[in-house]
Amino acid sequence: MGAIGSGRKKTHLSTSDCITIDIKDLRGYLTGGTCYLIDDKVKCTVEGKQLEIAYAFVEKQIRESVQLVTTILPNIGGKRYWMLCPCCQRRVRILYISMVGYPTCRTCLELNYPSQRSSAIERHITYEKYLLSNYGYSWAFHKYHSYHFRKGG
Ligand SMILES: [Zn+2]
Repeated sequence: MGAIGSGRKKTHLSTSDCITIDIKDLRGYLTGGTCYLIDDKVKCTVEGKQLEIAYAFVEKQIRESVQLVTTILPNIGGKRYWMLCPCCQRRVRILYISMVGYPTCRTCLELNYPSQRSSAIERHITYEKYLLSNYGYSWAFHKYHSYHFRKGG
């Protein structure tokens, strides 16, 4: 089939193929309000400490709630906003909505795939079929796995 480098093919998901929700894009709305990102494709609504991210994904309308938290910047005295990754509950500045459809932090994105060598080789787009066929399973597995794994700390 002319595949180059048969064997260990990288299936790593590139963050450049994801929609990114960057906390700094929400500046001005973090205390409440609605803004539209990514050419109006993604609607972000902040209400209280909840950020609701709504978007169409493969003909489905998805609404995900993400919790917002703040930390104090000691030197400047301001507040810094974070989102809690819906998957691992860690504080992050950027969430990625990959083709799997749901927002996660970068770590979860990478953990979700077997070969998780980091950033050096992130430009491949050869994983699409793999993802589409395996997502349901690996996602469920990952959630379970990370949840139990993390307790060891
Ligand atoms: Zn995460």
